[in-house]
Amino acid sequence: EVAPRMLSCALFRTKSYFFRKSLTPMIGRSFGSTVSGFESRIATVLGGQWGDEGKGKLVDILAQRFDIVARFNGGANAGHTLHVDGKKFAFHLLPCGMLCKDTLNIIGNGVVLDLPTMFKELKDLEDNGLARDDNLKISDRAHLLFKFHKVIDGIQEDELEEKSIGTTKRGIGPCYATKAFRTGIRVGELMEDFDAFSIKYLKLVKTVQNMFGGFDYDTAGELEELKAFRERIKPMVTDTIFLINEAYRNGKSILAEGANAALLDMDFGTYPFVTSSATTVGGISTGLGIPAHNIDCVLGVVKAYTTRVGWGPFPTELTGEIGDFLRSEGHEFGATTGRNRRCGWLDIPVVQYSAQINGYHSLNISKLDILSTFKEIKIGARYILNGQTLKPGEMPSTLDGLEQCEVEYETLPGWQSDISACRTFDELPANAQAYIIRIEELTQIPVSWIGVGPKREEMVTRGFDNN
Ligand code: GDP
Repeated sequence: EVAPRMLSCALFRTKSYFFRKSLTPMIGRSFGSTVSGFESRIATVLGGQWGDEGKGKLVDILAQRFDIVARFNGGANAGHTLHVDGKKFAFHLLPCGMLCKDTLNIIGNGVVLDLPTMFKELKDLEDNGLARDDNLKISDRAHLLFKFHKVIDGIQEDELEEKSIGTTKRGIGPCYATKAFRTGIRVGELMEDFDAFSIKYLKLVKTVQNMFGGFDYDTAGELEELKAFRERIKPMVTDTIFLINEAYRNGKSILAEGANAALLDMDFGTYPFVTSSATTVGGISTGLGIPAHNIDCVLGVVKAYTTRVGWGPFPTELTGEIGDFLRSEGHEFGATTGRNRRCGWLDIPVVQYSAQINGYHSLNISKLDILSTFKEIKIGARYILNGQTLKPGEMPSTLDGLEQCEVEYETLPGWQSDISACRTFDELPANAQAYIIRIEELTQIPVSWIGVGPKREEMVTRGFDNN
């Protein structure tokens, strides 16, 4: 069963490789040929800003051509929204490849696993006639996220009052914290002796209750629930590190699905207004157990403007009418929390900084359609700090430093027409093309994919065929 599929994948990749090569001279691109990701052995889709860039849509398109789709970081805080065949799916924890019936999906060791949420998402799929339990594998090294992790998340956010991090209160940070404290519990331990697991679990609850002021907690109820889940996940739990590397050795292709984004990375983001995991390219190695040098295609998703959730400096933020317009037109409300996203013009230094870390082969500029009514569009091209223009890739490490950055803008003419039916770069209005080309010039990265609407098919491809 596997052989014909591998052969057709190989043929497809060969075909798309030659197609791309043959188009390159005709396009005459200044920054090298565009990269679809289709021909890659291990590709990844990563957020290039502060999240919610529309990664899910590109992952969904690519997933149909890959053998495996794997989540490597975060937990049920991802919030990818997919529009497929007139139906809307919001995935918080499951990989986006769950919509493709022939794709194997992996929840990697770097993910924190909230079992009730995972089963709720599986149920939503089942209710839509897409039962997919047999397409999902879970790492035995992934950490279990318990309800008390959410309780702690809430306590910590409430303590910060109006300066809260703006977490989803899904317990992600506290779960990574118990992992780092070395008191966390892995999925593999749930699958072994349940009495031994229970003892460890009760000890962990006591530890966190002591740390966070002795909140009330129903341990018996949670243990009962976990016992039931344990039976259901038995066929799914495995050594995904071996599974994924063996699949790679056997010629299978892997798509690593990023959650969150570079500026929310634990190390590289605008700390402390960040998430608690590695959201950048290095997180794929640590979160899946894949050698870094095998990752051959890194696609960065960048919204045509900028948004962010929660507190923290945001140099190109628009607080007036334009910001409100971007929010309502772009439906900039969190898929996980429903919270308003702050909106602003495209911030090029943010993209240059994330590109430096992730090494994008190509960009997907998403939501270009949201800018379609503007007469003029601004791009935040450079930061000035203490009278000095920062070089591409430079980014202040502190919140104060970023707060003090002034932005130098460039103004481009708008296109003021509906672009949602465009599918090729040539079909885009000249001013929309010019906007994309200016992004390429400023970032020195080719733009391969351009989102012109929320639906799967509302995508402009450049230099290759999406069919
Ligand atoms: P993700 O977490 O990065 O996948 O992003 P979200 O799913 O939170 O937010 C992206 C939202 O924008 C979703 O509702 C998508 O359906 C939608 N979207 C993605 N690409 C486009 C696009 O090109 N145009 C428009 N209008 N919406 C898009």
